[in-house]
This record gives sequence, structure tokens and C-alpha cells, in this order.
Amino acid sequence: MPYNTSHPATLAAQALGWTDNQTGAVVLPISPATTFERDPDNQYRRGRGYGRADNPGYDQPQALITALEGGAESLLFSSGMAAATAVFRCLPLGAHVVAPLVMYWALRRWLAATATSGALAVDFVDATSLDALRAAVRPGQTRLVWIETPANPLWSVTDIAAVADIAHSAGALLAVDSTAATPVLTRPLALGADIVMHSATKYLNGHSDVIAGSLTCARQDEFWARLVAERSGGGAILGNLEAYLLLRGMRTLYPRVERACRSAQRIAERFAQHPNLLAVLYPGLKEDPGHAVATRQMQGGFGGMLSIRVKGSEVAAIRAAAQVELWKRATSLGGVESLIEHRASVEGAGSPAPPDLLRLSVGIEDPDDLIADLEAALA
Ligand code: PLP
Repeated sequence: MPYNTSHPATLAAQALGWTDNQTGAVVLPISPATTFERDPDNQYRRGRGYGRADNPGYDQPQALITALEGGAESLLFSSGMAAATAVFRCLPLGAHVVAPLVMYWALRRWLAATATSGALAVDFVDATSLDALRAAVRPGQTRLVWIETPANPLWSVTDIAAVADIAHSAGALLAVDSTAATPVLTRPLALGADIVMHSATKYLNGHSDVIAGSLTCARQDEFWARLVAERSGGGAILGNLEAYLLLRGMRTLYPRVERACRSAQRIAERFAQHPNLLAVLYPGLKEDPGHAVATRQMQGGFGGMLSIRVKGSEVAAIRAAAQVELWKRATSLGGVESLIEHRASVEGAGSPAPPDLLRLSVGIEDPDDLIADLEAALA
């Protein structure tokens, strides 16, 4: 960024202020090339050979994510799952891993299957309990502690700084799925984490039109080199158009997340005592068990995600979801449009989502419209 600022909202809005050297364009062109010319003496002095390893369209979005997360380097992947599983694939065969009981369900399922195959030894623990995490790590054996905060779909909160100490004292790395928090609200690397992962499909892109993932590291160390090799060797790369769209989405990350947080807080407070609800799960509520930790490690809001538990169990929850007109009945999260979803139907057997739970992703519509639509659906 030519102008010296440490304000991340400015860095995001201007995508680090990069302009095209040749034309002065304030948006860099999409770069579709898959291959790059060698120098006559057989070298690649310009640093790129083949698009799977060296895509110029990744430079700006990766640099922006690195700046927003306060990291050393970032890598884009073809999906959040590709980013997350790359971390586990780079561990030694049979490595011991600690992961949360409450986490993005598809990654939990993948980890459980990977453990069954013997490729990893995985212990799933209650990541809201530091005692449970302390008991689960095996000094000298645990290679990675994985957490997600706030965690899908209960929005439980894990104390990143405390878990970083637990992981490091056992000789393990700490990786954080920070998809729901976004760099706007939490910077896990500053709290001691080693790797931050995003499903960039969600808030980073923000428009429900790109599937992408990212990893950001605290250091460019030997593990990072393995991740770089895993992406280009494994080939889970993002397309050029998707990288461009992701960058465009990130330019509005701050206003989108700030507004979603404000609306989610209002919705949570408004429905907290609703007679047809058993509970509202949102770390922004003072009575939420994660509120104290969230207040420490989330700045500027508690996120755009919350869940409600409808009295009358599954039937009543599905009936309520059927009544909304403005909220879209769809999976995913972090887009400009608000989504509602009966989570147990998605996650299936073994899910920690109670059958009466509806997950809400709050978008950037007028919050009064969202509240009125939900009121009518719950009436
Ligand atoms: N992590 C979280 C918290 C998610 O919500 C998701 C997707 O819903 C993922 C990871 C996986 O990301 P993707 O769908 O981009 O593969």
C-alpha cells in the first residue's frame, strides 16, 4: 500500500492499493495464463513456470488476507475443505491430532474417516473446556490442535490464547478455523495460533458465488513449505475468475461484517426471550457461556451467525423455517443475503446440533425486515 496505514478496513477497501503498472487501472486484470515463458538460458527469472504452482491472480488476494490476518504468507485453495484438509495431509502418517466435538460437520466427518483409516489418530474433545484440551494433548506426540471459534452450529467459543499455550507446551501447532469470526473480529495469529484457515466461500467472498479456502501462517517455516508443496502437488487450486471475484468481495468485507454483526446482535436480543423459543445461541448475549471469552478475543462484534432452538422440537423447527419469506432456506453462511437452515437435516447422525435448531446467517438486509419475517414465521 503506497499510503501508510495500519487500518485493515482501508487495506481491504483498496485491496492494498495495488494498481496496474502499465495502464494505471485500479483493478488488476484477470490473468488466465496457465504457463509462463522460460528465459533463453533455461531459467525462470520472472519466478513463474506453471499456473498450478504460481498463479499471478493469487498474489493480490493472498497478500490482502495476509495483511488482514497479520500473518507471514497465505495460500488460496479451491475450497475451505481443501484448505483445511491440506493442513492434516501435511502431518506425518499416524500423527495425533486434537479436534473439537463441535465444528464444521463435513470436516469432522472427514477427520473421523481419516482416523478410521489409520492415517491420523484423532481425539475429539469439548473445546470450550481448557481442562478437556489439556487432558487430550499428548506431550511430544500431538502434532496439531484444531479449533473453530465461534463453532458451527452452536457458536460455542474457544479461548484461542489459552489453547495456543496448551498446544505449544505439548509441542503441537495450533490451527484455527476462523471462518465465522473473520479477520474483522478476531486475529488468531496475534493470539498465538500458528495457522488460520478460512472457508473464503463465506464472509471473505460474501456473495454466495465463489467456493474458496485460505490458509495463513504465522511463519514461513518448514511446515509452511509442506503446505505450499501440498497445494501445487495435490492440485486443489482456485480458478482465476474465482480469485478475482474473491478479491472483489473482500473489498467490502468490513462494512458487510460490521453490519451483519449489528443486525445479528439485534436479532439475538430481540428473540432471546421469545415464547416459542427454547434458546438463542449467540456469543454476543451476556448470558451466553462464551460471552466473556468472546468479549476478550472478538473486537467490534460477535459475528453474523446465531442459532435458535424452537419449542416443539424438529417438527416445529422445520415448520418455522417453512414460513419465512425473506430469509432463504439454504445452507452456507456469510453472504449478503440472510439464510435459515434446519441444521440436523444437513449434518445427519452424530451431529451435536439438537433437532430443534435452526441456524441463521444474518446478511446485510434491513434488520427490521429480517426481524419481522422471523417474528411471523415463529408466531
Ligand atoms: N469451515 C467452516 C466453519 C464452514 O462453515 C465451512 C463450510 O460451510 C467450511 C469450513 C468448508 O468450506 P467450503 O464449503 O468452502 O469447502
